[in-house]
This record gives sequence, C-alpha cells and structure tokens, in this order.
Amino acid sequence: MAIHSEIFDLVNATPFVDTHEHLWEERTRLAALAEPAQHPMPSDLGILFYHYADSDLVSAGLSAEDRKKMVDPMTDVHEKWRLIGPIYARTRHTGYLQNVRESLRLMFGEDDITDDNYARISDLIRDQIAPGYFKRLLRDVSKIEHTQVNSFEDPVFNETEYPDLLCQDLSFVGLSSGLNIEPYAKKANREVGSLQDWHAIIDWVFETYGPRAIAIKNQSAYARRLDYDDVSAGDAAPLFARHIRDAKGSAEFEKKAIQDHLFHYCIRKAVEYNLPVKLHTGYYAGNNHMPLHRVGANDGDLCPIIKAHPDAKFIIMHISYPYQDEAIALAKHYPNAYVDMCWAWIINPLASVRFTKEYLMAAPHTKLLTFGGDYGPVEMVPGHAAIARKGLAQAVSELISDGWVGEGEVPALVDRIMRGNAHEIFDYEGTLAAWNTPAA
Ligand SMILES: [Zn+2]
Repeated sequence: MAIHSEIFDLVNATPFVDTHEHLWEERTRLAALAEPAQHPMPSDLGILFYHYADSDLVSAGLSAEDRKKMVDPMTDVHEKWRLIGPIYARTRHTGYLQNVRESLRLMFGEDDITDDNYARISDLIRDQIAPGYFKRLLRDVSKIEHTQVNSFEDPVFNETEYPDLLCQDLSFVGLSSGLNIEPYAKKANREVGSLQDWHAIIDWVFETYGPRAIAIKNQSAYARRLDYDDVSAGDAAPLFARHIRDAKGSAEFEKKAIQDHLFHYCIRKAVEYNLPVKLHTGYYAGNNHMPLHRVGANDGDLCPIIKAHPDAKFIIMHISYPYQDEAIALAKHYPNAYVDMCWAWIINPLASVRFTKEYLMAAPHTKLLTFGGDYGPVEMVPGHAAIARKGLAQAVSELISDGWVGEGEVPALVDRIMRGNAHEIFDYEGTLAAWNTPAA
C-alpha cells in the first residue's frame, strides 16, 4: 500500500524524543580518534558495522576472528572491506544493514557501500568526528529533540557533557540483580557488611543521582527470568550478610531471593524519585546466547510486579519482540504499563509496522513511545530514525486507508507518539533543572 505523501511529510517534519540509546560521549569519541590504540571503538568504516550490523554479518557467516578485525581501530580499511564486502551482500536486506545505508545517505549522500567508495566513506566518517558533531547528527540530521542514554561508560552514573541532549538513565542492575558492590561502595565512601548498609548505599545513589536521572533501567532479562518475588528485608538480610562474606557459599535460590528483594527495593525508590522504570524485554543483542523460552516468559513474569507497584511507571522496552502481542496486552490491561519501540524498527521493520497498527487499535496511544536508536555509535542514529519515520508513516497511512483512523485525528496522534508522550512520561524539564543546580 502506498504511503500517503502528506502523512510522510508530517512524520518527517515532527521531531522525535529518542527514549533509548547507549551513546558513548562525544569526548570519548574524540579521544578514540586521537589515540586509536587506547579505545575499542573504530573511527573509520568499521563503526558502521560495530553495533548490531555485526550480529547479522555473524549470522550470515562472518567468523568471530574476522568480526574482531572488522571493528579493530588498528585494522587497515582495505582489509576491513575485504572481510565485510562479501558477507554484507548476503544480508543486505535486514533492518540492521538497511540502517547502514540509511545513515550513510543522511550523513554523506551515499546510497550504498561499494568497492569504489568504501575508502572515501571511511575518510568522511573520520573527518566528521569533531567537537559539536553529536548535536549536528542528532538534532539537525536525525531531527531528535533529545535522547535518553543508558551509558556503559560509568557503572554508577555517567556525568555527561551534554545533559540537555543526552539525558542519563540510572542503571539499577548493579544495585539489585547484578549485585556489584565495589564501585558503589567506593563512590559513596561506605563499607558494606549488611543489607542495611546496602540499603543505605542504594538510598545514597538515588539521593545523589536520582534528581538528574531521566529514568532507571534494568536489563537483567539477559541473565535471568523476570520473576522477581517481593522478598521481605527480614528474609533477605541473613542471606545478604552471608553472601557478602562468601559469595560462592550462596545457593542459586538464595541469590535469587537477594536479587528479588533488591529489585523491589529499587522500584520503591524509583517511585519516591518519580523515575520511570525501563525494563529490557524480548530479543537479545549479539549471537549464540538467546534462550527463547525464557524470553517468551518476560511479559508474563512482569504481571505481578506491575500490579504490586501501581505508582511505578513500567516501560516495556523493545516491544518484547518477538512477543509483541504480550506487550500490547500489558499496556492494554495495566494502567502503569507503557511500551517503547526502541531498537524494534531495525530488528524487524515490518513487524514494527504491524505492531504500531495493532497497538493503536488495542491500547491507549498515550502509553506508546515510538523511537530509541539503541546504539553506542552516534553515526547509526540518523538512519534508524529515518527507518522509524518510514514505518510510522506506513502504519498510520494503512490505518487511514483501511478506515480505522480518521485523517483529521492524525496530526495530534503523530505528535503524541513521536514526542508528546515522552514529555508526559519523563520529567525532562525537572531533570535539566537539577543538572543546572550546583550540588550542595
Ligand atoms: Zn539498549
């Protein structure tokens, strides 16, 4: 079905609030450019295949050893293209690889990578890494108001150089399911011997970083089921104290009880600080490690948790792909369940078109977030935003053509799902005010 050109123009002219990225700081990229041997990220052709695209290349036959060479900052660009070229041809139609071309088109006006232009593209990628290029790529090229970043640069909290452009999530994996005492204890300058001590550290983390954080984030679905029981402090305290003395001595069910207790403790803190709770659900990044049976249980596992904390806003990330019907059911049934389409547009563009249409026919459109690039390299965000806009325009056009949505309703709907909902769900202004208030 043809996309109505007026709908495409409208979606194209509307800025996104980008609710999920992993962007490295611009200062980190500048440092990697200056000293390539000291940083893992390439500043050349390899950056286009560093994140997500590499996974489809591996699925299409790229060896682990060649993947490493492909993204190594020290590998020569001709060698990189010799490795990438033939495999890229085998998987060029997937969302991940379409995004490589979309991003190239928007950044440099190139439609594809070929034997004739790969070296030139590599030079263009290197030359654009300069102060201010994040703002240009995100605001001007991608038409994004601001992003929300789950940074991997600091395990506690990333002190970004651009708080108005790169809002920061507060990860609570290390505080709960992936218990990681040391970096927090060091920053808080406290000892941890008991559950009470650890609660005090969690309280300190929320007090110190909560006002500047845009949300809290947890991707423990990569490591366990999301069946977090609401274990009491009384039950968890002796297990925790013993675990601190001898981590190897804890049985699996005891570790689970500790994680479960801390997960719920953090949710209560999030409510106290008015921070939405972002949870990874669905598909796994990478290759060769996804237990699909466990992934399929994500949304069902979350039901008692969503019910237990009616004042918490739960953001179901990545539409739980390929279990997106379950995500729609959560948003339809629970007032405090929201769905974020971050990453989904490139995992499977057409499933995302279908999801958008079905979500809008089933659940409140005020609880849908339609874009997050989910990338470490900023270079890949422009293409992803373009693919999302194309898919959104297609979904809305089809709903109009089929008589499910009236044309007059579209401007308000599009504005809401692309940016208005994010402004309603997250406190962008309050967060910025906290960044601008000097610490006492
Ligand atoms: Zn992510």
